[in-house]
Amino acid sequence: MILFAEKADELKNYTCSQNAFLPHHVTIPLSQEYNTSCNPLVRTGELVTEGQIIAASDKPGKISVHASIPGVVEEIVECQCPNGKTEKAVKIRLQGSFDFLGRQIPSRPIDTLSAQEIQEHIFDSGIINTFNVKKPVNLGNQINNFSGQTLVIRLFDDDPSCITDRLLTKFYFERMMKACGYLLKALGRNNIVFIYNSKLTPKTLFDPWMTETTDFLDVNSNEYPAGLEAKIIDAFNKNVKAGKASKRNKTNKNTDIVLTKKDLFIDASTLYEVYKCVAKKIPSINRLVHVSGNCLKSSCFLNIKIGTTIRDIISQIGGMIKTPKMIIINGRLRGSNAASLDMPITRYVKSISIVSGKNTCDSKIYDCINCGNCRAVCKQNVFPDVIYNHVTNFNIYSLENNGKNQDVEELLKTLVAKCVDCGTCNMACPSRLPLTQIINMLRDDYNV
Ligand code: SF4
Ligand code: SF4
Repeated sequence: MILFAEKADELKNYTCSQNAFLPHHVTIPLSQEYNTSCNPLVRTGELVTEGQIIAASDKPGKISVHASIPGVVEEIVECQCPNGKTEKAVKIRLQGSFDFLGRQIPSRPIDTLSAQEIQEHIFDSGIINTFNVKKPVNLGNQINNFSGQTLVIRLFDDDPSCITDRLLTKFYFERMMKACGYLLKALGRNNIVFIYNSKLTPKTLFDPWMTETTDFLDVNSNEYPAGLEAKIIDAFNKNVKAGKASKRNKTNKNTDIVLTKKDLFIDASTLYEVYKCVAKKIPSINRLVHVSGNCLKSSCFLNIKIGTTIRDIISQIGGMIKTPKMIIINGRLRGSNAASLDMPITRYVKSISIVSGKNTCDSKIYDCINCGNCRAVCKQNVFPDVIYNHVTNFNIYSLENNGKNQDVEELLKTLVAKCVDCGTCNMACPSRLPLTQIINMLRDDYNV
C-alpha cells in the first residue's frame, strides 16, 4: 500500500471551478475511448456547430466525436494524444455562435425521462467512463451490455496524486446524486454503493438520497491502490461478510449487496458528465480538469473545451515560472507523460501536472537485474519479472519444450488475471521496465 500526503489542505485552496478562455482553435482527436478510432464526417472548409457530430466509428456500439466549438474545419491533421498515440484529429477555427455555452438550460426532471431515453442520451452524448483512466470506455455501451446488479460510485481519484474527483465531489455533490438517479433508472437496478472517504465527504451529505438499497465503503483515499476495481470488490465483500455493511434502514439481511466485476463502476468525473448530458442535454464537449505543478504560476480547476491545447491552458493561467521536464496526464501512478504542450485535452483527461526537473528521474530502460523488488511489492503475488522476461525473451521457453508450453501459457494467464493493474511494480523497478504495460498487453491477448 502506498500512502500519499493528506490532500484535505490542498482541497481547501479551491472554492469553485472556472471556465477556461475560449480557444481560437481546437484540435479534436478522433480517438476518445480505449483502442477505438473514428472516421471524420466533415471536410476542410466545412462549417460546424457546437456539439455537432464530426466523426463516428464504423463499428457498432462505439461513440461519436462532437465539435466542442462552432467554427470552420481548417484541416484533418495528425496529432499526439494524451494516451501516447498518434491519431487523426479535426482542427476547427472558432467562428459563429454557441448553442450551449452561456445559455440557461433548465434541468429535466428524472420522471419525465424513460430508461430508454436516458440510455440514448448517454450514448449519443459520447460520455467516456474514466473510472479506470488507463482504459477509458464508452459508458453508453457499458449500460447497454450491463448484466450486473449494482452501480458503484467512487468519489475520489484512483490515483491519490490527483484531486479532480475530490474537487468535483466538493463542488457538485448534488448534481452527481441526481446523475446517480438517472443511471439507476437507465440500468433498471436499485442497488448503489458509494466508495468515499468520510474525512472528505461527511456521510450525512448522503441522507436525502439514502434508501434501503444504498451502501457504503469508507476508505482512505490517500492509500494506493485502494480505489481500483479489484480492491474495492475485495474490501466491500469482506465488509459484508464481516457484517460491517452499513446499509441504512435495512430490514432484510438477505438484501446484502455483493460486488462483482459485472457491476458498473463510475468515477465522479463520469457522474458529472452524466448530469450535464442527461439533465441539460449537452454533449460531452467540455472537461473539468485540475491543472497544477511547480512550473506554473498558479493551479486551478478549469472547465475546458475538448481539443484545447495544454499550451493555451497554461497561457490562460499566467504562464510558466520554470522550464518543464514532464507533463503528467492523469497522475503519477496511473497516468502518462505528454510529449508536448501542443497536446489537446480529450474526454479522458482529468488532470495535468507540469513539473520541473527535480520531480523527474532518468527515463532510460535497463536490463532486469533480478533484484526482486517487483515481487516484493506486488500484493497479488503476480511475479511481474517472470512475465516480463517471458514476453521479451520468448526463447527461455523454447519450442523444444512443446509439451510444456500449454502449461506456461496457463500459468501466465492465471498470473495476469490476478494483477489489479496498480503499477506499483513499475515504480519499484530500478531498471524502469514497463512491467504493467506488458501485463496489460497479455491481459488483452488472453481476454482476462
Ligand atoms: S501492477 Fe500487477 S503485477 Fe504490478 S504490483 Fe500491481 S498487481 Fe502486482
Ligand atoms: S524490479 Fe525490475 S529489475 Fe528487479 S526483478 Fe523486477 S523486473 Fe527485474
